[in-house]
Amino acid sequence: MHSFGYQNGSLHCEATDLQALASEHGTPLFVYSKKTILDNYQRLASAMSELDCQICFATKANSNIAVLNQLAKAGAGFDVVSSGEIFRVEKAGGDPGKCTFAGVAKTRAEIEHGLKAGIYSFNAESEAELVLIDKVAGEMGVKAPVALRLNPNVDAKTHAKITTGKSGNKFGIDFDFIRDAYARASKLPNLNIRGLQMHIGSQLTTAAPFIEAVEKVVPLVEELKAAYGIEFFSIGGGIGIVYEDSLASGDPAWWETSDALTPEEYAAKLVPSLKPLALKIILEPGRYMVGNAGVLLTEVIYEKQGTTKLFKIVDAGMNDLIRPTLYEGHHDIVPLQESDGETEVVDVVGPVCESGDYFATNRELAKVEEGDVIAVLSAGAYGFVMASNYNSRPYPAEILVDGETAHVIRQRQSMDDLIAGETIVE
Ligand SMILES: *Cc1c(COP(=O)(O)O)cnc(C)c1O
Repeated sequence: MHSFGYQNGSLHCEATDLQALASEHGTPLFVYSKKTILDNYQRLASAMSELDCQICFATKANSNIAVLNQLAKAGAGFDVVSSGEIFRVEKAGGDPGKCTFAGVAKTRAEIEHGLKAGIYSFNAESEAELVLIDKVAGEMGVKAPVALRLNPNVDAKTHAKITTGKSGNKFGIDFDFIRDAYARASKLPNLNIRGLQMHIGSQLTTAAPFIEAVEKVVPLVEELKAAYGIEFFSIGGGIGIVYEDSLASGDPAWWETSDALTPEEYAAKLVPSLKPLALKIILEPGRYMVGNAGVLLTEVIYEKQGTTKLFKIVDAGMNDLIRPTLYEGHHDIVPLQESDGETEVVDVVGPVCESGDYFATNRELAKVEEGDVIAVLSAGAYGFVMASNYNSRPYPAEILVDGETAHVIRQRQSMDDLIAGETIVE
């Protein structure tokens, strides 16, 4: 569900006209809906309300401090993967005591930052990391709360580049080694064993892989609870969103005929296995929370007819939104002015000097002309956060809409900022 749709023929985010935003702030422009983000949070929280459940938003999906601040006020904790993300959470008013710290390569400086901030749990991914956390905690005279990340060796049946829970992935500790790793942790004097974590992958569109992973791991959780008194089990993130038919999915009626995964279905399938554990259950959703809550607005600069293709060349590129290039990710694309039904088969491509710089290929789209602004939908997760300055293109601006009000939550990057920190030498 989301708050994007046509009102009187023009595309709106909540009560705000997107054409007006594009005219005022320019393009490329990311626009997010506050209502969608908070609705998504509340919906998942209430679906899980039978459990002692903490939602830790996966900060990496959209780390603008205005977005983090909204979620913090709603009660979310955060799953962070770097010192930079801890810094953002602190600036956004988030509670580090509700944060988990993930990642395979935490450095000494990052561990110190996490300990100083008072992170709820370091989710360690190797025995070597446990050893360093123990050492740093000892030097600081504190106990470090830790959990281990298990690699449950389950096929998430998603894109290869976002599969994380198979034994060939770099993430987590394999079943064969996990008990030894806990035994080792229990002997390190400056660690406090707090839980078990797993995360099998991203953009899962059915509940089956989640159920398989949970059922496979529950006996181990019971064992660890008895042996070490663990207090939480984190089942990670990964709830998928609707990328095709994205606009239609803003309508409650659409969900009645669709088989898309809902938070209610996710909860109904998992709660029966999780409840008997009587532990705190942590969820780490990223994409689910913000994916359909954002769009990327971009202007059609030129049209070009090739021998086999009609290109619509737009002013946003893979440096602004890399999902199509990196993951073959699909994003629906719609005009800001509702179409009269006329369509064309086109490639929508950006300005970057790479053949992979496209948003859609051989796609039937509503006919648009030079100067028209189009919306690349479902761009709220893994969009701006993956942006780069490649081709010396400044970062786009970001807007958070609240009803009729549009807040600039990040200014468009200036040319001076583009070279900030660079120096010319003799
Ligand atoms: C990326 C990540 C998530 C979030 O994944 P989504 O698919 O966006 O929900 C959660 N936990 C960990 C450890 C991650 O690396």
